[in-house]
Amino acid sequence: MNEEKFGFETEAIRTQLERTQYLEHSVPLYLTSSFVFEDAEDMRASFAEEKDRNIYSRYSNPNTNEFVEKVCKMEGATAGFAFASGMAAVYSTLAALLKSGDHIVSSSSVFGATHSLFINYFPKWNIQTSYFDINEPETIESFITPDTKILFAESPTNPAVDIIDLELLGKIAKKHNLILVIDNCFATPYLQQPIKWGAHLVVHSATKLMDGQGRVLGGVTVGEPELIHKIYLFSRLTGPSLSPFNAWVLSKSLETLAIRLDRHCENAMKVAEFLEQHPNVNRVKYPFLKSHPQYEIAQKQMKAGGNIVAFEIKGGLEAGRNFLDKIKLCSLSPNLGDTRTIVTHPASTTHSKLSVDERLAVSITDGLVRVSVGLETVKDVIADLEQALD
Ligand SMILES: *Cc1c(COP(=O)(O)O)cnc(C)c1O
Repeated sequence: MNEEKFGFETEAIRTQLERTQYLEHSVPLYLTSSFVFEDAEDMRASFAEEKDRNIYSRYSNPNTNEFVEKVCKMEGATAGFAFASGMAAVYSTLAALLKSGDHIVSSSSVFGATHSLFINYFPKWNIQTSYFDINEPETIESFITPDTKILFAESPTNPAVDIIDLELLGKIAKKHNLILVIDNCFATPYLQQPIKWGAHLVVHSATKLMDGQGRVLGGVTVGEPELIHKIYLFSRLTGPSLSPFNAWVLSKSLETLAIRLDRHCENAMKVAEFLEQHPNVNRVKYPFLKSHPQYEIAQKQMKAGGNIVAFEIKGGLEAGRNFLDKIKLCSLSPNLGDTRTIVTHPASTTHSKLSVDERLAVSITDGLVRVSVGLETVKDVIADLEQALD
């Protein structure tokens, strides 16, 4: 075949390793911790990075290579590295690129563990983070100092489902010579490709929609080759690499990402429309509902609204707890992006240790409920939410 560019689904399905002597159709699992060399010179050249080959599975493995290659094709990137979890990807990416004295500007609403890393750990190495309010993007530049190296954001955000204008972030990063890192976990490359808008690096928790079936943890960072090389050198030393088995599972999952996402988004839209007209619901946030404050931006940068719906239940903390207790079909679980619909009420569960002000700082109000809409028959999901709300 010639140089013609294939469609997203074709790349997801047909990007694979060369077949072995057995001519298998589906890529096999390479459970091996190391690889062998022809002779001393082969070994020397491999370690000196003069050869592009597998050495040791902490560095690379055929299965992790295949997974990275697929994500690169899907995100429009040319290089990447696969991690044991999304947090390993976030941490290793930033730790590899930053040094003492550097500064990060981040959106206020980021994944909880990322937030804790920024406020509890990076300051130990004299790396400080400033937060901009997602609803005040015009203030972003005021946080940038001569020490700022990284602009970091998620969109849509967890759990409030706010949207940030990626094009604007791309322009700001370019103007101030910053590395723009986008956590694209909620959208996946099927719905949104941050590199198109100027992101230098895209990080993912592959645990969520990429696996999509709640089985394995994984993470990946893709983007500019020089940056990825630094991340690779740091990671091959420190050991956060993805296991071959999880990479094998994730590569298979990516083959169905597009078709799963289509249904996830279709179901989520129906759930959002149902919630919007329910009398016990104050406010629904779903990127593709006209009522979403950043609806126009979502339309510009996303193909569909994703599978996460956030809503504000009337009655605050108590009502949220009661709602969870009445749920029958859906799962109460900290995961998201699964075939099974999951509901969470952060204020009374995952974020109950925080004060009200601390919660509000990360956009968690007392009545906020997050629904990760799954792939069940959507009328069954709506019926469950309805009986719990009534
Ligand atoms: C879950 C999540 C992570 C962390 O991923 P793990 O695979 O659980 O380590 C990072 N960012 C976002 C937006 C997430 O939802």
